[in-house]
Amino acid sequence: MLDKVVIANRGEIALRILRACHALGIRTVAVHSTVDRNLKHVAMADESVCIGPAPSSESYLNMASIIAAAEVTDAQAIHPGYGFLSENADFAERVEQSGFVFIGPRAETIRLMGDKVEAIRAMKDAGVPCVPGSGGPLGDDNAANIKIAREIGYPIIVKAAGGGGGRGMRVVHTEAHLNAAIQTTKSEAKAAFGNDMVYMEKFLENPRHVEIQVLADGQGNAIHLGERDCSMQRRHQKVVEEAPAPGITPEQRAEIGKVCVEACIRIGYRGAGTFEFLYENGRFYFIEMNTRIQVEHPVTELVTGIDLVREQLMIAAGRKLSIKQEDVVLEGHAIECRINAEDPETFMPCPGPINHFHAPGGPGVRVDSHIYEGYRVPPNYDSMIGKLIVHGPDRETAIARMRVALSEMVVDGIKTNIPLQQRILSDAGFQQGGMNIHYLEKRLKEQKEKTIAIV
Ligand code: ADP
Repeated sequence: MLDKVVIANRGEIALRILRACHALGIRTVAVHSTVDRNLKHVAMADESVCIGPAPSSESYLNMASIIAAAEVTDAQAIHPGYGFLSENADFAERVEQSGFVFIGPRAETIRLMGDKVEAIRAMKDAGVPCVPGSGGPLGDDNAANIKIAREIGYPIIVKAAGGGGGRGMRVVHTEAHLNAAIQTTKSEAKAAFGNDMVYMEKFLENPRHVEIQVLADGQGNAIHLGERDCSMQRRHQKVVEEAPAPGITPEQRAEIGKVCVEACIRIGYRGAGTFEFLYENGRFYFIEMNTRIQVEHPVTELVTGIDLVREQLMIAAGRKLSIKQEDVVLEGHAIECRINAEDPETFMPCPGPINHFHAPGGPGVRVDSHIYEGYRVPPNYDSMIGKLIVHGPDRETAIARMRVALSEMVVDGIKTNIPLQQRILSDAGFQQGGMNIHYLEKRLKEQKEKTIAIV
């Protein structure tokens, strides 16, 4: 087993990784910025190292500092969590070149998946269903691009190969706008990602976001852990996630899961990963693979009973997967609400001191959060302050438990999105299940118009 792990992250995921390490008897090193000295996991870690000032570019994104922290504490491995350096192939490479284990896939896998054109090509070759598209980068020949778009059929979406975080995309409805859209996306992509390569895909108008969780040991064994539905989104940011996805049959799950498992084996995937799909009219369309643990991983943990971070650590230690596909049995239903320090109406981040905190509890309730009374949410990072996750024998019970849990939760001193989550959980469409990725924004817009009308 690993002996000591550096946790190269902050907040709830750093605490989550620490818990998994300690449960396996692995010692931990917390690395933190100057404003993060008071983080919960820093107090709980066996050792801690300050790696730089508040701006993440000088701390959590500072590769040299993090690797130096591993060196001075004589650690063996580095867990990147999500965000920050988790999908940075150069970091993975430098970690391994410095003699440490990177808890994640090989650098070349991260690099492959970071280039969307290459990722889609590799996945297509591996038999994963993809959105109909150009199948490669677009050239400068306008006539050729018009021909590709006609073959795909409008509307189409022009996407940057190096894009991420929902940026670098443009929807085109008519031929007259195609070439200008390609040029604009190219120059934007060049400025934002340093890579002007763009490609074209069919734009699906009303898809759901359904993703498959996988685990692979890089030694020829891989399994899938079913799917999550993350269609409740605002500005491409997930707000509520659940497992299983409403309406997905066991046959569909087995079929798409098998495709993902085979793709993992084919590319020599190692670690935990997620195949993200758009799902429309009963069909899955691959959009990208996330080569890390995801924010929403707990819903999968609750329905499968499998500790994903523990499995990441076991795989990193060189163990073969001990779980077989037939051992993965889904039980009940799980829902996660992301709790953000933000205004529930304007969505403006709302950092500041937490004067009072009360975590909900009861059967099937899990709180993954680093906040505590007296903690001050710094303004420098993502506004997520925790996740409330519930499990129940069925979706209806899970929704009921989540509504009670949300009403019980007290975060005093700052504004949070708990009122928004309560509205979502009591919304008829959400309760019905299976809404598409535009549903939440549409409802928010309707509500806003209604409020204005009343005023
Ligand atoms: P990113 O890496 O920036 O998250 P993705 O390729 O995952 O980019 O796409 C982000 C979001 O953009 C998707 O979740 C979906 O809402 C939308 N999107 C991307 N491709 C398509 C498509 N072909 N049709 C419809 N919506 C799309």
